[in-house]
Amino acid sequence: MSTGICRATLRDWRDHPEKDGSRASCSRCADDPTLPEPGADCAYLLGLYLGDGCISFAGDPAKRVWKLRVVCCDSWPGLIQECARAMRAVRPDNKVMTVRKPGCTEVVSCSKHWPCLFPQHGPGRKHTRKIELAEWQREIVDRYPGDFARGLFHSDGYRGLNRVRRTWDGAEHWYEYPRYLFTNNSTDILWLCGQTLDQLGVAWRFSKPNTISVARREAVSRLDEFVGPKY
Ligand SMILES: [Zn+2]
Repeated sequence: MSTGICRATLRDWRDHPEKDGSRASCSRCADDPTLPEPGADCAYLLGLYLGDGCISFAGDPAKRVWKLRVVCCDSWPGLIQECARAMRAVRPDNKVMTVRKPGCTEVVSCSKHWPCLFPQHGPGRKHTRKIELAEWQREIVDRYPGDFARGLFHSDGYRGLNRVRRTWDGAEHWYEYPRYLFTNNSTDILWLCGQTLDQLGVAWRFSKPNTISVARREAVSRLDEFVGPKY
């Protein structure tokens, strides 16, 4: 199943091995590694990957070609496009495909270099292993915290109305206010999200052990500058 997705790409590499095999096409495994570009897209894609992405072999492991996959909900077609656009921007030589699944769309791109760009890649699920940013990733996130937060909230986050009920004078009153939630089962990823919100000056708290909530009015409007509603 997984090999089918990238068959065309694999065939392309077989026939044109020079296209992606060159180390020069990857800023991280070059002799003199530099920060991958464009930084804002790298930060956004890192947020998406940590939130809801995975990296696995595309086909025969001996070929060392990897598939980056981000699962996007069909309710937000704009986010599917934004994810595909960011993948294309970060690895312009690699094709990006969308694969329809029930209720969701996988955005997929195959490259030899995804593990260079996401060294967090490893066996098992993300919440069962330590997730730490590499020094150079930290640098990117520090430069583009808003884009990183945007990626996190676009994958595992939510912006919606919270309804609360208050009773006084014997009458019920309902209030609605917008809030953001970010849910993830990895404590490391939750803390990365929290640190980034601190950096952006957005007040937050844990509303559940696996959920960060941004609910204060000023905090929501500050985060709106970077994230905003899903679309
Ligand atoms: Zn590389």
